[in-house]
Amino acid sequence: MNLILFGAPGAGKGTQTGSLIDTYHIPAIATGDMLRAQRRAGTALGEQVKSYMDRGELVPDNLMIDIIKERLQKPDAKNGFILDGFPRTVAQAEALDRKLDQLGRRVDAVIYLRVSRQVLIDRLSHRYSCRTCDAVYNFAPQQAGNLPRCSVDGGDLYQRPDDRPEIVAHRIDVFLKHTAPLIDYYTAQHKLENIDGQMSVDDVRADITRRLSALRKGAGSR
Ligand code: ADP
Repeated sequence: MNLILFGAPGAGKGTQTGSLIDTYHIPAIATGDMLRAQRRAGTALGEQVKSYMDRGELVPDNLMIDIIKERLQKPDAKNGFILDGFPRTVAQAEALDRKLDQLGRRVDAVIYLRVSRQVLIDRLSHRYSCRTCDAVYNFAPQQAGNLPRCSVDGGDLYQRPDDRPEIVAHRIDVFLKHTAPLIDYYTAQHKLENIDGQMSVDDVRADITRRLSALRKGAGSR
């Protein structure tokens, strides 16, 4: 399965990716995490993307397209992948389609997690991330002064610079302007699975699983 998890920042893409990896045994390719890893490692690319990310702007298409092309060639992506955070523009989606075409593959489904602006802002303003592994947590404001360590690797939890309220609002605007046009792009390809991302984590997971099994059955019977 070649899947795209699609939605605004805070829609729950990362949360749902975890269970999809376990179900389908395919790797998650989260471009935001890849970029943050480059920054932690202090690479030239990490340096180059820093200011875009911290301002809540998109990293230029040419950089992102090169990163994803290289990643898709890796052996672990041979039997499928879950993209989280890519594509974010129509140019990225077109480049992805061209690359997959060259490899004799295609996107099977685009799972769109639909969430209202207010809920996105609420979720992101309570989101804390591990500085070393990017695991994500939610805490009430009164807990902010007394955060635990990351339960995955014991790392320090912090609020990502781009999760600050003024940047969050801008990221949602960037999503609406540059990324939301992909809804039409993938609807025209009959690949969009429109899911209510405001249900509980378990209900969203169940809905995704149900739709993907229906798709697999459909594909098998053709
Ligand atoms: P979230 O999970 O909250 O949506 P990400 O971790 O996916 O955020 O992305 C963080 C930042 O990394 C984005 O705001 C953007 O600056 C950059 N980024 C990640 N993926 C892309 C992409 N496909 N195109 C352009 N910029 C990207």
